[in-house]
Amino acid sequence: MEAAIRRGAQVIGRRYTTAAASTSIGSLRYSTVPASSRFTIVEVGPRDGLQNEKTIVATGDKVALIEKLVGCGLKNVEATSFVSPKWVPQMGDNSQVMQQLSRKNGVHYPVLVPNIEGLKNALAVGVTDIAIFAAASEQFSKKNVNCTIEESLKRFEKVTNEGVKLGLNIRGYVSCVLGCPYEGKIPSSNVIKVTTRLLEMGCSEISLGDTIGVGTPGSMSRLLDDLLTTVPVEKIAVHCHDTYGQALANVLAAIEKGVRTADSSVAGLGGCPYARGASGNLATEDLVYMLNGLGFNTGVDLDKLLEVSAWVSQLLNREVGSKVGRALLCKKA
Ligand SMILES: [Zn+2]
Repeated sequence: MEAAIRRGAQVIGRRYTTAAASTSIGSLRYSTVPASSRFTIVEVGPRDGLQNEKTIVATGDKVALIEKLVGCGLKNVEATSFVSPKWVPQMGDNSQVMQQLSRKNGVHYPVLVPNIEGLKNALAVGVTDIAIFAAASEQFSKKNVNCTIEESLKRFEKVTNEGVKLGLNIRGYVSCVLGCPYEGKIPSSNVIKVTTRLLEMGCSEISLGDTIGVGTPGSMSRLLDDLLTTVPVEKIAVHCHDTYGQALANVLAAIEKGVRTADSSVAGLGGCPYARGASGNLATEDLVYMLNGLGFNTGVDLDKLLEVSAWVSQLLNREVGSKVGRALLCKKA
């Protein structure tokens, strides 16, 4: 028994060592991250977060939330979605949000765009940053967007062709990269295929989504080891859900592989549609706290962010969904 445990520990130890040695930026020593090392946070609370909250938030409050987040120093704030309100009623005021928002220079306000119709509506209100989404799982694609992965990519190609012509920044999301609620495990080859296609179509960055939060640092590391043999690490972001309490650890595993962009949601907004009551998005406060500790420069003011977190949680009549929020807000009270 003891020997088995020891053997298990060795295996884990070896995997991590091998993994770290396999990429040039991989063997990171946390105490030696230079102060100038930038880390980009893509704040997804106002879209991915609010879309998965039960309460429908007033347009003015959405605008206030986005502006407050920008006020914390966040330079990438996903603002809304141009998916039909028939499917996503929470984002039915997409055009009004973009019109009422006072947009700052140097800040990106990406919006989700599902098709040409959505793109037209987004362009009409001056959107310059869009995001498209595909799944690494065939079953998830069918249930989520009613078509195969290939069909969804073809549909998005029309959007990206137009977007590239207009010089838009295009971000791609790949969902279910570490597991699917219908198919279970997803082979890395699926993720590589979809990621490569999205890059070829003109996406400047691909956000790898652990949509149901089943990933662990082990599965994240293995996926990135496979993916980064063909895809440049600068093109990759991670979008980790905290359903099983693994989100921060998974981001750390990605950092070890050289990834320097991660998505998160203020106050951990957004539940998990596949596990009722479970937590969804990684909370931005928790991510910033970890990155500060690692010595990264995020440009985000954690104190201000905590105020926004408390404000939006009160607005939604929910508990602050971040560990850091709970700990530090308690101290202040
Ligand atoms: Zn999410």
